[in-house]
Amino acid sequence: MPVGTAGTVKAVPQDVLEELGAQIILGNTYHLYLRPGHELVRKLGGLHRFMSWNRALLTDSGGFQVFSLSELRRVTEEGVSFRSHLDGTSHLFTPERSMEIQIALGADIVMAFDECTEHPAERERARQSMEMTLRWAKRSKEYFEAHKHEVPWAESGHRDIGASGHPALFGIVQGGMYGDLRRESAERTVELDFPGYAIGGLSVGESREKTMEMIAIVLELLPKDKPRYVMGVGYPEEIVQYAAMGVDMMDCVLPTRAARHGLLFTSEGRMNIKNARYAQDQQPPDPKCGCRVCSRYTRAYLRHLFVSAEPLAAVLNTVHNLAFYLDTMRAVRHAIKLGDLSGMPSRSVSLA
Ligand SMILES: [Zn+2]
Repeated sequence: MPVGTAGTVKAVPQDVLEELGAQIILGNTYHLYLRPGHELVRKLGGLHRFMSWNRALLTDSGGFQVFSLSELRRVTEEGVSFRSHLDGTSHLFTPERSMEIQIALGADIVMAFDECTEHPAERERARQSMEMTLRWAKRSKEYFEAHKHEVPWAESGHRDIGASGHPALFGIVQGGMYGDLRRESAERTVELDFPGYAIGGLSVGESREKTMEMIAIVLELLPKDKPRYVMGVGYPEEIVQYAAMGVDMMDCVLPTRAARHGLLFTSEGRMNIKNARYAQDQQPPDPKCGCRVCSRYTRAYLRHLFVSAEPLAAVLNTVHNLAFYLDTMRAVRHAIKLGDLSGMPSRSVSLA
């Protein structure tokens, strides 16, 4: 899932996202709540209509951004109070408030309000954090069930996501880097009975082996017939690995953020387009990629745009990186249909 932080996948217009085959994108609750504000978005018909995106939208709970961006945050049983990174104003996110905001935005998939446990964390701290996430999951679900019909598109009926006519709420497994806590979190989250489950609190500075170990432990306990979503991963070779393990959904800012820094993901490995070696390179960015950027432009031109700080650099780099990620997942789905993931390229070759 491409990440569309503030109602936009940075540098990419919605029609291009459709052409790339993006079926679902993310919106960030924290950012949209602060600007332009969820009440305004609700008034304008919800995020789908506001940003002219009729495919699926998932919003995060706001928790992760509060932990990573805001200042002076304070966590209590009630929720998290914080100061906006934009203007310093004081705010409070609670499970109920997070549900209210995500319902006002009109997401198709709403995420339970959780605490992303910091890394590293002592065992007792990770346990307490996990317990709080479970209590918050219960509160999230109670509020969500009572208010899920209030999504902006419920009345207009302009969205049709199955018979239910309302969004779905996913639970989030936490537990830090402790296998037994992860197991307990998974079991108790499944007991709360959500239509989909996420594994949160990973990719926060731990080793890749640790990430894989935690995912493997949790996947064993999550129902196979419900979507299983690992939040905030990863590099192309990682998403192939996780999909092979049984993960259905992933999101990451990497393809878009790296693109804006001139880093391209290609079938030949990672490419720093600002490198002088590309100054006269007439090849497409990725000779094996059929995206609109690779079919039209050269490495030399992309390098020129980037070193000249032209806005088009961010656009073209991002379009290619998203094409590469979405093609990777298309190949994974195809391999799964054939019943054989062994032939998937690891795509881990580095040009560094
Ligand atoms: Zn391309």
